Amino acid sequence: MPITPLMPVYPRSEVRPVKGEGVYLIGESGERYLDFASGIAVNLLGHSHPQLIEAIQRQAATLMHVSNLYGSPQGEALARQLTELTFADTVFFTNSGAEAVECAIKTARRYHHAAGNPHKNELITFSNAFHGRTMATISATDQVKLRDGFAPLLEGFTVIEFDNLEAARAAVGPSTAGFLVEPIQGEGGVRPASPEFLRGLRALCDEHDLMLVLDEVQCGVARTGTLYAYEQYGIEPDILATAKGIGGGFPLGACLATEKAASGMVIGTHGSTYGGNPLAMAAGTAVLDVVATPEFLAHVRAMGDRLRSALEQMIPNHDHLFEGVRGLGLMLGIKMKTDSRAFVGYLRTQGILTVAAGDNVVRVLPPLIIEEAHVREFVDRLSAAAAEYDVPAAAA
Ligand SMILES: *Cc1c(COP(=O)(O)O)cnc(C)c1O
Repeated sequence: MPITPLMPVYPRSEVRPVKGEGVYLIGESGERYLDFASGIAVNLLGHSHPQLIEAIQRQAATLMHVSNLYGSPQGEALARQLTELTFADTVFFTNSGAEAVECAIKTARRYHHAAGNPHKNELITFSNAFHGRTMATISATDQVKLRDGFAPLLEGFTVIEFDNLEAARAAVGPSTAGFLVEPIQGEGGVRPASPEFLRGLRALCDEHDLMLVLDEVQCGVARTGTLYAYEQYGIEPDILATAKGIGGGFPLGACLATEKAASGMVIGTHGSTYGGNPLAMAAGTAVLDVVATPEFLAHVRAMGDRLRSALEQMIPNHDHLFEGVRGLGLMLGIKMKTDSRAFVGYLRTQGILTVAAGDNVVRVLPPLIIEEAHVREFVDRLSAAAAEYDVPAAAA
């Protein structure tokens, strides 16, 4: 078999969407899918949202791209909006999550460099983390499937057990720059950190002058019912990476930082050709205008509660398959007693889209605009599919 024109790095399924309408995707032959995956937590406003379409069309017809060598009224406006809504004083725009994490890592190292402590260059990271696919971000995890065959990896990362504060305290040494952590591990299996853990990391950072770097690429932008998940932990980071949902489907990410944390990021230290171009800024502004309101965030929390309790009610009816639900807001995971990847594949054949994660978890990541009827439809169809499902012999 010759290699496919698309580099064959994905196990692409039979689902071949050509159109999207709200919470549904439509395939090549007109088949409809209930999309509770949202492009992996990306399409916050569902598909074909009129405000997002309008903003992108208008900006595309006005000015699509200019260099970062020029002033950016569009970038300044979105950066101001983000700094007003969050802990941050300053923002660097990227095109992806991995680039946002890269910028966060560079910002943390430069902070200590600028403070005269260049030896403080090691980030402590956590088991089963997912931070992206670049060399630095695969060096920041212990997941073998992400790292295998890409040696030599980058130095400066120490991976310890997630949610273990004692291990974190013990790992801090003279070369520690800070912690890089997902408040809720996504790809690793929808595992929320405990409040004690994140508060403990914050306290360690305060005590030793370290950078608390949060990777909210998946859990950020209203997904958990607050604009960022850290708000629910009662702490603030020094640096935060955001992406996925922030463009609503347009490629956009950002690295947010306090003034103190960004003290090393002076002229010439970082850059990006596309990062923050006017078209991306229009998409980001349209998304934030919708999701960053108290009413919308309350809607996400209400839908998260409904979905979670409907799933919890359904699970005992299929207790040979499902163990329980975990997560926050509309970032939920169903822990399975069997292979979650095989089950997610089967759900696709039943017209239901979810995403597999580590630890045999099915990720349930609907667009944030879902209504109660979508919650009911999803849980009814999931339950019917579970009743019909024959656990493959290899996965039992
Ligand atoms: C998806 C993801 C990334 C990487 O984002 P890309 O846009 O694919 O580069 C980084 N961190 C987390 C937590 C993610 O879920």
